[in-house]
Amino acid sequence: MSKMLDRIKAFQNRATEQGATPAYSGQKEDIFYDFAEGTPNRIRLVGTWVTLRSHWIGPSKFSAVKLFKDSAFTGDNPIKKNICCADFDSQTEMPVAGENRECVVCRLHAAANDILFQSGKDLDKEQTDFLNGIAKAAKFRERIFFLCIDRDHPEILPGKKGFKVVEFPKPLFEKFTDLAGQYNDFEFYDEADGCDLLVTKRPKPGQQKGFDYSIAVATAGRGFAFTPLTAEEKAYEKPDIRKIFGKKPDQAALLDALTEDCRELVDIGNAPQGDPAAKDAGAGEVPF
Ligand SMILES: [Zn+2]
Repeated sequence: MSKMLDRIKAFQNRATEQGATPAYSGQKEDIFYDFAEGTPNRIRLVGTWVTLRSHWIGPSKFSAVKLFKDSAFTGDNPIKKNICCADFDSQTEMPVAGENRECVVCRLHAAANDILFQSGKDLDKEQTDFLNGIAKAAKFRERIFFLCIDRDHPEILPGKKGFKVVEFPKPLFEKFTDLAGQYNDFEFYDEADGCDLLVTKRPKPGQQKGFDYSIAVATAGRGFAFTPLTAEEKAYEKPDIRKIFGKKPDQAALLDALTEDCRELVDIGNAPQGDPAAKDAGAGEVPF
């Protein structure tokens, strides 16, 4: 979740605590769900999940490798630190076909891997570390989203309930599919037959970052807490996850924002196959 959204949320929470009603009609709905740490979060998933691909391209304190100039993230026209991968079709949830690929970050990833694959043995340690770092930093990340009803805090505006968008980090999604598997691929998110789930998020013990998740079916008496959507819930407006998170960034702006080394790397990766200079540099199309 971005810092800005965090700030908006803090602002809205404050308003709610004070019992304030929206002071102006332009108040933004808070539809982004966050798992609270420690206690079980009760949610009702609604509809199957949406998969998207993204790249985290901001500076990282865990990696020395920089893909983009620091200055690109500030100023009048900053680029975003978390961007949608342009080489993934969010409607079909399939990678874009070869000739239509345009994602600068994926090109960087492919170019680094390509050189490592073809000339790895001729490179010194510094060059190898650099290329490995680029390949790692430029790899796309798969993101999984659901719509849900937040049973603990169902309001998206003071006095207005609605669906929220919840992201399932990979470890949680794996536990979710395991859980569904235990019950014969039960569709917990089915509008008529689904039920509430309890998700617990805890910091990974002894580690600087990352969380452990557990997920369980909410129970009522001796069985599942089945919660067919009520008429009111069915009438909630459905946020369009693909529209919210699937906006593709301006690739020309991204090219401009690359560090000098990375720009050079993309150019090497772009050189036509027959170009002898490209051959020398070990470039060519390598699937990633
Ligand atoms: Zn990409």
